[in-house]
Amino acid sequence: MSAGPGQSDFMEQIRREKGEKRPRHVLDSSLTSKKSQRRKRRKKTSTAMKSIIPPTHSVKKDLRGKKQPKKRHLDSSEEEKDPPVKIKKEDPGGSGGPSGVWPTGSGSTTSTTIRERLRFQHVLGRGAYGEVVLAEDTATCQQFAVNVIRKKALLAEVEMADVMVEHRVLQLTIGSPFLVHAEFAFQTKTHVLLGLEYLSCGDLDQLLQSKGRLDVNSTRFYAAEMVCGIQHLHAKGIIHRDLKPENILVAETGHVKITDFGLALENMHGDRTATDHAGTEGYIAPEMDAGEEYNAAVDWFSFGVIMNKMITGEREYKPKLFNESTSGAKNIILQLLKKNPAKRLGVNRNIRKHLFFQLIDWDSGILKSSKPQHLQPFHLDAVEAAEAKDFRPSAKDQAMFRGFSFSNLKTLLDSGFTTTRASSPPEPP
Ligand code: ADP
Repeated sequence: MSAGPGQSDFMEQIRREKGEKRPRHVLDSSLTSKKSQRRKRRKKTSTAMKSIIPPTHSVKKDLRGKKQPKKRHLDSSEEEKDPPVKIKKEDPGGSGGPSGVWPTGSGSTTSTTIRERLRFQHVLGRGAYGEVVLAEDTATCQQFAVNVIRKKALLAEVEMADVMVEHRVLQLTIGSPFLVHAEFAFQTKTHVLLGLEYLSCGDLDQLLQSKGRLDVNSTRFYAAEMVCGIQHLHAKGIIHRDLKPENILVAETGHVKITDFGLALENMHGDRTATDHAGTEGYIAPEMDAGEEYNAAVDWFSFGVIMNKMITGEREYKPKLFNESTSGAKNIILQLLKKNPAKRLGVNRNIRKHLFFQLIDWDSGILKSSKPQHLQPFHLDAVEAAEAKDFRPSAKDQAMFRGFSFSNLKTLLDSGFTTTRASSPPEPP
């Protein structure tokens, strides 16, 4: 949604008071002012952030510390060259009929529309452009988080560009298990729908709210997964620009994935820089806050704030909250929060080689296959055997529990695969 008419004047006044230049945007100039307002409104500039920044560095124009030829900015003509949103050919789009054909297995002759196969269940949350709804594929029972976005809202606003970016980025994220990816997209006459993989355990922000902070091992595990996801994005020329705990979703396996690519910037390969302002208060890198040219280093700064929050429970960096010296947690956070982006870890040196990650085996793929260390495994057989060592209930004891067992689980018979109906579970003698 766009800001009210008085809002841009208000923002301009704040900018003048802070001595800031009016932010320039890398996207289509016709979209610039409204887009700026939305981002400024939705994701405000931080002044509080200054206390988290080590004071000794100054930002130079040249992000790599050398004199460089003038950086090339993306301009509106380049933006226009971006491929339009691809909707499957079978999708009638504006016709309003059933839309989108589900990708069928090879050799399959039947095709069912996505819409026919989906059973919508309940609203998971509200996004910037619509509702995110839990839906189930009735054929496979696979669940999805479907972002249901109103075309009317998109057309009335300039958010359209953000949805297109998100749509494109979500298709590139499939190469990394640490990034949420889209499974399908389709449209009706009135809505566009983006089907995302469903992560059922909330986000890192909720986890931190319930636990306060995480231990070093858990932080290391989550941080390593985030490093993989961030590096995958950067290798594809994408800067996320809105990394924060709310955008780190937790799967029921305990692994984490980065989501929400609505503010992502594409085509940021090589020396390219941008200057437009986007992000969330408290996570924005100082060079972006100052209206300087910036590159992918902004994501590493936000990542540093997230790491600080995981370890200390605080968003602001407070040295006295670190009482350890061996894990390297304090050092890695300081390196990530460097004010000078050219010296910031992630861009400057190989973050994977930092002491904090020395226990992570990056190359073997073990990160994804192993269980997060903070999740306690549970094996009923082992627990039962351990308990049975010093607890031998008598027949009288067991009689106290008679009739406890029951089962409402669907039997194979219900699915039409067998002719014998399972009885309720046997009870111990
Ligand atoms: P938007 O990017 O449109 O602002 P969000 O990404 O903030 O939308 O999503 C809104 C809410 O929907 C989130 O807070 C979360 O509760 C839920 N949600 C979004 N994506 C997923 C997902 N992949 N799995 C589970 N829940 C999700």
